[in-house]
Amino acid sequence: MKRDKLKLIDLHCDTFFRIVLAQLEGRTINLKENDLHVDIERLKKVGASGQMFAAYIPAQSLSQYGFDGTPYDFLKLTYKKMLEELEANKGDIALATNYLDYEKNMANGKISAFLTIEEGCILDGKIERLDEIYDMGFRFLGLIWMPENCIGFAHSKDPEVMAKGLKPFGFEVVERMNEIGMVIDVSHLSDGGFYDVAKHSKQPFVATHSNCRAIANESRNLTDDMIKILANKGGVMGLNLVPAFLDASNKSRIEYMVKHIKHIKNVGGIDTVAIGADFDGMYGDLEIDNVGDIDRLFDALVREGFTWDEIDKIAYKNVLRVIRDVIG
Ligand SMILES: [Zn+2]
Repeated sequence: MKRDKLKLIDLHCDTFFRIVLAQLEGRTINLKENDLHVDIERLKKVGASGQMFAAYIPAQSLSQYGFDGTPYDFLKLTYKKMLEELEANKGDIALATNYLDYEKNMANGKISAFLTIEEGCILDGKIERLDEIYDMGFRFLGLIWMPENCIGFAHSKDPEVMAKGLKPFGFEVVERMNEIGMVIDVSHLSDGGFYDVAKHSKQPFVATHSNCRAIANESRNLTDDMIKILANKGGVMGLNLVPAFLDASNKSRIEYMVKHIKHIKNVGGIDTVAIGADFDGMYGDLEIDNVGDIDRLFDALVREGFTWDEIDKIAYKNVLRVIRDVIG
């Protein structure tokens, strides 16, 4: 039943946050091989052709982590670490800033590392910073993580907050990201913000790590209406393995993952489904607790009647389409 080699491009992991935190605590964690959810050895094992590595910015708790700079300083620290690890492992993995880089890396037998940012507060109201982070090699930006930033508001159980849209600077950010070819990531964003992005973005956008609210009623997940809009725009959403975002039982189980994937397929179409597992950003009762076990999900999809063409789309092809469409 199992095919030789599955390609995988996962849309979101917090692995570099763990690596940077260790560094701040005087410990060393390597990307090559570690006890986290993601390392190069396990990415190779599952045949990953790419991985989005997020620079997660814990804007409100930087000092708690013993860091006394700004969120932008923290981004630069994470970026430095990313470059160091890519250099140290250049035989296995290389930066990709567009589709051609990905193809080149594939031809050289290397995994493509796409750099992403989780928390638009690093812009600090300065639109020119988008060009700076672009020049650094970042190609995806999660507009928000914390409750409020210069761009807009995060998802919330409070309907009034959830309805809040982008701030004037947020609209500028959408426009500029469209112009320079960066992918807008709406995971963590308020519903109002989502609809503003959908209305104003001329390019496909993504939810790198969000599930279906119709199945798991969490404000972090997308409603069916939002899934349809995302799909019509040509975007994708990455299946998140966080227990609460999969099921009210608070257990991360493969059967729930399949349920969400089927739902996204039914509502938005197969071209909308991707993987954004949130490795190294999730805890709890996890049936798949590292990227090396992700093929268990694809085995389950085969058993559920998904074709390999569909599984290829879910595993990497839909993500590549968005990269080609938005970044080039
Ligand atoms: Zn997240």
